[in-house]
Amino acid sequence: MPTEPQTLRCDVLVAGGGPAGVPCALAAARNGARVILCQDRPVLGGNASSEVRMHIVGANGTGKFDRGEELVTEAREGGIIEEIRLENTVKNPQRSASVFDLILYDLCRSEPNLDLMLNTSVVRAETEDSKITAAIAVRQSTEDRFRIEAASFVDCTGDGRLGAEAGAAFMEGREAVGTFGEKLAQPEADNQRLGSTILLQARKHDREMPFEAPSWAREFSREELRLRLYATPGEEEPTHEYGYWWAEWGGTLDTIKDNEIIRDELLAVTLGIWNHIKNGPAADDFQAQNWALDWIGFLPGKRESRRFIGQHILTEQDVLTSQPFPDAIAYGGWSLDLHPPEGIDAPDIEPCVQTPVPKLYDIPLRCCIARDVSNLLFAGRNISASHVAFSTTRVMATCATVGQGVGTAAAIAAKREILPAELPESASALADIQRSLLRDDAYLIGRNVMAENDAVPHAEITASSEQENGSAVLVCSSQSRSIHGQSGAPGDRCEAGLHRWISDPEEGFPASISLQWPNNITITEINLVFDTGMHRHLTLSHHDGYTSKMIWGQPQPETVSDYSIEVREKEEWETLVEVTDNYQRQRRHHLSAPKAVRGLRIIVRATNGIDHARIMSLQVNALEFG
Ligand SMILES: Cc1cc2nc3c(=O)[nH]c(=O)nc-3n(C[C@H](O)[C@H](O)[C@H](O)COP(=O)(O)OP(=O)(O)OC[C@H]3O[C@@H](n4cnc5c(N)ncnc54)[C@H](O)[C@@H]3O)c2cc1C
Repeated sequence: MPTEPQTLRCDVLVAGGGPAGVPCALAAARNGARVILCQDRPVLGGNASSEVRMHIVGANGTGKFDRGEELVTEAREGGIIEEIRLENTVKNPQRSASVFDLILYDLCRSEPNLDLMLNTSVVRAETEDSKITAAIAVRQSTEDRFRIEAASFVDCTGDGRLGAEAGAAFMEGREAVGTFGEKLAQPEADNQRLGSTILLQARKHDREMPFEAPSWAREFSREELRLRLYATPGEEEPTHEYGYWWAEWGGTLDTIKDNEIIRDELLAVTLGIWNHIKNGPAADDFQAQNWALDWIGFLPGKRESRRFIGQHILTEQDVLTSQPFPDAIAYGGWSLDLHPPEGIDAPDIEPCVQTPVPKLYDIPLRCCIARDVSNLLFAGRNISASHVAFSTTRVMATCATVGQGVGTAAAIAAKREILPAELPESASALADIQRSLLRDDAYLIGRNVMAENDAVPHAEITASSEQENGSAVLVCSSQSRSIHGQSGAPGDRCEAGLHRWISDPEEGFPASISLQWPNNITITEINLVFDTGMHRHLTLSHHDGYTSKMIWGQPQPETVSDYSIEVREKEEWETLVEVTDNYQRQRRHHLSAPKAVRGLRIIVRATNGIDHARIMSLQVNALEFG
């Protein structure tokens, strides 16, 4: 390999293309930064990729409990992760793990400001005056070495490799009760963590499929697996299509340094469980005679390794009391979900203990900025959180919202030519970040930073018809979702209501909403947000039972599919935009040239299922209000 590295330059380097890194890189690029995304594997997605195959969950599922009531608690994440989920459900009805890889690859490859470097590992950082000057990356497949200079460096590697190389402070293991005053913490601190898991997929055939376990597979008794889901026949409907998240091991070791040992033992564990199902004493009850292994992971899904120390450390109390943070860039809602580090070797302990988080909670930007390296940010499972708080922030849709928040913040730091570490002190930078996130359909609890150049609040708004509580003016209401239900946002930081225009089904289609301004204005962009049923689960899962809770393989029925946007300067209406077959929640229509208008209307001709039109939010950017 040549010793002289090639020098590359960008505004934001994102290391790691997992559930946090992909939205982070996309958000930074879409907010105007030149971005390089280095991903050490040939595919994107981290634990959600075809190499691991975990399903993405977030604030609307809380493990054993649900947080999604129609038109009351729409807790599913918006923004880039919603775009990915909707793309996946429509383009991947067959639930192929590889098609999901392709969807992420396509999104990154199609982003003009983003250079995706696959098979490229970040291995070193150069620093000066507590600042990273360059990251060194290696691509073994082409024997290339790169020196990447950037204004901001974002560590989305899960393990925190980039930050560790830069000397950033981090935590590992479990803190004691006294460390942060957390009730769910350990009596004594230790160096143990959540373990890793290898998943499998099996397929049913039309004849018996024998399985012979390798000599090194572990043996399990019925007694040892009695607390594990699906491991006791008769307790649940026998289901074998998707593996066992509780086949967990390695949490008592170093999940980075011992990763190879952990992989070998996890293969022995996972195949041992499969052997128990196929050939064990209760094999007949499992009804798995015709089932055969289709896929087994070779890359351990890693839950926990380093957690950086940022400008703030998120704790159990922050989460359970929904502590408001002025620098919120994301939110969470999954339960505090702790597992015994011994995993499968602790047969008498439940594989997870989930403490529900009563309300959605803020994740501040300061948890994503290094305390001691001024241009280092992080997103994903390595953010600055105690072990207990990490147990909720670690789920992938939450990692994705943090990724989008951090990518947006990094781009705004680059635009303003300030260090990421300075962002939380700048009220105007924070307002800029939060405004950009809300414009891009992220949800921030209680935040209503209206776009400064939005002409909608200045218009007279009418509709062809409307339902009670669904009047046309709600397209510019304070929220673009209902979130007031008992497990939604804290009551003092949300408003009850439907927060969308809803047309009357009796009036049928087309249904239209019209805006009229007293004088001509010059518009540049129209930003629409449609309803995508955010109270429901929506994620690629290889588990049939979980998938049956969703509307998978098609657009969501609430979503407007066919619409046009018309404008007029005087009397004549002119069609600006005509869309058919839409399934996305957010559609931004940027005009090729500014346009003088006095009236604008959205004409909805069809939805993907329901008998009336719904628009959550409408922004019309105009030069007059800039
Ligand atoms: C078995 C298991 C079950 C889980 N269950 C769920 C669940 O049901 N739902 C859920 O939402 N979450 C679940 N989680 C948690 C979730 O998967 C992780 O917390 C989440 O994937 C973290 O996202 P991330 O982007 O921070 O890290 P990762 O997913 O680990 O992604 C990091 C990425 O960075 C890349 N990378 C690493 N080092 C480098 C480097 N030096 N240079 C370049 N690239 C690098 C990796 O290849 C990877 O793609 C589970 C985790 C495991 C292991």
